[in-house]
Formats: sequence, structure tokens, C-alpha cells
Amino acid sequence: MPRLSLRRIAKHYGEAPRVDALRGLDLDVPQGTYLAIEGESGGGKSTLLNILGLLDAPSSGEYHLDEVDVSLLSDGDAAARRSDYIGFIFQSFHLLDRRPVVDNVELPMHYRGVPTEERRGRALRALDAVGLSEFAWTTPRTLSGGQRQRVAIARALASETPIVLADEPTGNLDSENSAAVLRSFERLRDVGTTLVVVTHSEQVAAHAERRIRVVDGRVVEDASHPADGSPQTGSRPPFSLALSGDPSEGSPRNDTRSAPQMAPAGEPRGEGVAGSRTVSTARDVPPGRASHVRFLAGLRDAWANAVSRPGRALGLVATVALSLALVVTTLGLAASAQTQVSSEFDVVTSRDVSARVDGDGVSPAIPRSTGVTLAALGELNGVAAAAILADVGSRGVRVGPPRGAVSTGTLLGTGEVEEALRLDVAWAGDTTRELTADTAIVGAYLADNLGLTAVDLEPTIDVDGRTVTVVGIIDDSPRAPDLMGKLVLGSDADRIPTSTVTAYVVTDTGAAHQVAGEMPHVMDPHHPDALQIDQPVELNSVRAGVEESIAMSMTILTIVALIAATASVVIASVTSVGERSEEIGLRRAIGARRSHISGMLTAESIAVGLIGGLGGVALGMGAILALTIARRWTPVFDPVLGLVAVGGGIFIACIGALAGVIRASRIQPSDALRS
Ligand code: ADP
Ligand code: MG
Repeated sequence: MPRLSLRRIAKHYGEAPRVDALRGLDLDVPQGTYLAIEGESGGGKSTLLNILGLLDAPSSGEYHLDEVDVSLLSDGDAAARRSDYIGFIFQSFHLLDRRPVVDNVELPMHYRGVPTEERRGRALRALDAVGLSEFAWTTPRTLSGGQRQRVAIARALASETPIVLADEPTGNLDSENSAAVLRSFERLRDVGTTLVVVTHSEQVAAHAERRIRVVDGRVVEDASHPADGSPQTGSRPPFSLALSGDPSEGSPRNDTRSAPQMAPAGEPRGEGVAGSRTVSTARDVPPGRASHVRFLAGLRDAWANAVSRPGRALGLVATVALSLALVVTTLGLAASAQTQVSSEFDVVTSRDVSARVDGDGVSPAIPRSTGVTLAALGELNGVAAAAILADVGSRGVRVGPPRGAVSTGTLLGTGEVEEALRLDVAWAGDTTRELTADTAIVGAYLADNLGLTAVDLEPTIDVDGRTVTVVGIIDDSPRAPDLMGKLVLGSDADRIPTSTVTAYVVTDTGAAHQVAGEMPHVMDPHHPDALQIDQPVELNSVRAGVEESIAMSMTILTIVALIAATASVVIASVTSVGERSEEIGLRRAIGARRSHISGMLTAESIAVGLIGGLGGVALGMGAILALTIARRWTPVFDPVLGLVAVGGGIFIACIGALAGVIRASRIQPSDALRS
């Protein structure tokens, strides 16, 4: 049986309207034949070629390739058969425009697991054979149409597949370029390749030894079995006889330019020739494993693809890097901010304790004088500063005789008022003053009200008829905000207050609770329960709450950043596969399985994710450092963040790759390569 054998092949597309592209076509093609397929446009030639090339399955009928029925192969088996048997040459060339010419020529061998050096050697010899050695390292974009088509021929030549299918190979070329392409075809014939060429060109068809005409899905003319009685259409002698005798000698493996031994020009065509051609099916499948990619070669290919589109690759890397930098920054700042919050809790809030007792204005609120009470408080372990304020209600305050009195909340202060209440006081003459019986400080709001803009000249005011010198303005009072509108008079330490009294204490770090426990006993040993203690409440749970809310907002930011990065990588990946459908179709046609395409897209994506992840770590760490320095925080670097970013990059890459892989799996090579 000849190598290619079609029986009653039919192919129809769609239902209602149903297009019958092939209608019961029979065709036998022995090895080594140069067959031209002619016919009107729409007659079914490309469909026939797609079926011969296992890019498409027939709707019915049998297709035997080397005696094996291949009409109903699985996708992967078809890829393996293509890798073993079929080379393609297309009207629109279908080269990888961004990869060097030599990479293009090597591609079918890439999908046969041929080792790098052998691949390169065969590719360079094939380029030499079609006269393009000097262009091996340029990209096909710079070549003329004829040169590009010869690259495609070199690709078929180097792959050493026994069958090459060409669909209108000179359809886009002028006659000069066509002639060069035809001369390159000779190289394929030289090594015994079966060449099936669909063509509208008389120039191309005239070279063929057999011409058939396909009209309405059937073979209506076959010039080697002429129906019209003109046997001379194919005038060239067969070429493959030299390979039939000794396959090893005739093997093109080591010399793609082995000279053909043509049969004598006058030898009659017919059974004898057909017989020797049948023998010539000894032209074997090429070396290597069908549809097999070496791991490292696959990685190199993916890397070459990524860098062949530097703009896109950099854009993607930047997207991933920026998003992961945001992730690293938010996570890192969350840690730094938590540390900061905790230490602020410790240094500030947790050191403030106060004790208040309400007085009735008649009997003593505390049993001893403020001076004695303060001294006792000062002796407590852990007390850093203490002051007592006695609320004496409203007093009439006036500034100079012309003005009326302003009714003002007034307190009598004893002890370290500024320190214990954490006041921010603008003192007269910029020096801290101790409050004495005839001096006062006023809250900033009251100062405004009284028209006291500055106290450097130590103005005096009249408080219920008593003259008092103002020595400071309270600009801030975090512990007792109401002081901003009040007057704090220095007080006689011997006084035993009768009105409401509050003792303010600032403790040493960690001493607050102990001090809070002892204060009532010190201030009123007989009625400690009368005192209302204000101490840092439930410190740990407050801190935990704040930390949790910081962590929560940071987590939300992180998730948003990850989603944004993933979405952009998915979109980029799907778009990229769409733009590369022709390339993917080509790779599939010359032997790649779906899994090879998936692997390639995944490897490309992971390269981007990995580099983006590393970039994200660097950017994120830099941002954390800059922000914490600017805020005078202690930066917290967690090495886990680095792993998170790189892992995140790979995760994003895998999701992106998955989207691309799904899109790529829908690509049918026969559709993607339609010219
Ligand atoms: P030729 O290559 O001889 O010009 P084709 O094999 O491309 O012809 O097409 C044969 C017929 O099948 C045409 O009518 C064409 O429109 C139709 N056809 C080819 N491919 C498809 C397809 N994928 N879906 C639907 N119709 C198709
Ligand atoms: Mg066509």
C-alpha cells in the first residue's frame, strides 16, 4: 500500500447550511511523489491538505498512513503522527517572527526532543541548502517573502519528515521569488520527500510529476492516471529511487544535500515506477521521539519567547512587581505599625492613673492637706509625677478694670501639674514655672476669651477681687481636655480641700496597676472606696483590638492588590494567547501536543511571576524602610514576607497561565493557520 492512502474521504462543515468540502475522495500517494493539487477556489483543496496533515479529521472515510488508519486519532496521537511524518509549508509562511531564523528551522526538532547541538547542525545545513546561511541569526521580519518561504522549506527539510504538505506556497510571491522557492523544493525532492503542493501556479504545477484537479470535493483529473488520455502532464522523472535501495545510505540524516540519483529521463512511467516508489517508503521517520520536548529545551524556548517580547514581558513583570510590592508593604507596615501601637500603649496610655473624690464644699474631701497627700503619693513605688487639682467651681475673672468679669471654671493646682497632666504649656519667658498661690495658667480657649494672646509680660488678672499673675497658657491637655477652657490657680499646699479633688499620677512603665491599687489608701486611708480610680482599662484587649483592626485593613489592602495583579495578568495572558494563536497553531501543526503548549505558556508566565515577585520584594522592602524612617517607627522586616511575595508571584503567574492555557486549548491549528 502506498504511504498515503485515502478512501471515500468526506468532510462537511456545519449543519444547515451544511458545506460538503470533500465528497468521497480517493487518493493514493506513494513515497517520494511530487504531487500538485489544482482546482478552483473553494473546491476542497485546503480541506484535503488539512486531512492529509492530520490537522483535521474526515467526517467519514478511511485515511491510512503507513498502513495505519489515522482517520480517527486522538488529539495527542495526531500530534505524534504529525511529528513523525508531516512538514508544512503555508501560503503565509507562518514563521515565529520574533525568533531568529535558525530557531524557526529547529522548531520541529524541538518537538522531537532532538539534542541542541544536533538540532542546530541540521538547521544550519538546511539553511545552507536553501541558500540562507547568512540569515540564520536575523529575524524573519527582515526577510523578503521568497526568503521567508525558503526558511519554511528549510524548516521542513531539517525536520526530515517523509511528507511535506504545502498550501499555495507561492501564492504571496512574485515570479522571481517563486522560482527561488521552486529551486528550494528540489532539496526536498533530493532526499526523497513526498511533496504535496496545492497550487494555482502553472509554474509550480509544471514541476510536479503528478497533477490532480480537485473540484467540488472530488478528484476530477489525475494526470498520472489520466482520464483524458494525456499522460504527459507530469513530465519529471521520479526522484526517490536512489533512496529505495539502501535506506541507510540514502538517509538524509547526515547530509541533507545528498545528491539525487535520478532515473534515466526516458524511463517510462507506470507500474515499474510505481513499484519502486512503494519500496521507497523505506524513507523512515526522522530521529528523535515523536512529539517529545526535553525539559531544559522547553525552559529555554519559554525564556526565548518571553524575552522576544521585551515590552510585554517588562510590563507584566512591572504589574506583578508593583502589586506584590503593595502586598509586602502593607504586610510589613502592619507589623511595624503594630509594634508602634504597642509601644505607644506602653509608654503613654498605660502609665496614666487618676483618683477622684467628690466633695460637698463643706466637709473635707480628703482627710489631709494637698501637700501631705502629694508627698505620700510621691513615696509610692512607681510614681513618676503627681499633682492634685481641686475644682472650686466658677469664679469671676476680669482682665483690667474696663472689662467685665467672665465667669470661669477654676481649679486649684498643687504639685507637678504640667508633668502629671501631660500639659503642653507655653510659659512666660519660656521657662517652666512652679505654680504658687498668686500665679495661674489659663487654658488656650479661656485665654482667647479674655484677650490674652501672649503671657510674656506676665499680665495680671482679677479673680474674684484677688490679683493673680498669669504665667502660662495651656496649649494642650490630653488627660483633662476641659482645662482648655479653665483657669488653674496655684494653691496653698496646706489647704484641705472640700470640693471635688482629682489626683493625677504618671507612673513608671508597667507600674500603673500597682499604683492604682495603692492610691486610694494613700489619699484617704479610712474611706478608700470613696475614690474613683481611672486606670488603663483592659489594656491588653484594647491593644489587641487596635492591632486586629490594623491587621484587618492591611489584609483587605493585600487582597485587593493580589486580585488586581491576578486580574491584570489573566487579561494579559489571555490577550497574549489570542495574539499568538497563529504561533500556537503552527507549533501544534509541527508536532506539539496541547500539554507542550500549556507547559510553554506556564513556564513563560512563571518566569514573569518569579522576576515580578523578586522585584516586588525589593520594592516593598524599600517602601517599608522609607515609610518607617519617615514616621520614625522601628521597621520590622519579616523574611517570610520575601517568601510570600515570590510565592505570590508564582501563584499569580499560575492563575494567569491557567487562563492562557484554557484559551490556547480552544485553538484549532487548522483554523489558526488558515491563510
Ligand atoms: P480550497 O482550498 O480549494 O479553496 P477549502 O478546502 O478551503 O477550498 O474549502 C472548501 C469548502 O469548505 C469551501 O466552501 C469553504 O467555504 C468550506 N470550508 C472550509 N473550511 C471550513 C470551515 N472550517 N468551516 C466551514 N466551512 C469551511
Ligand atoms: Mg485553500
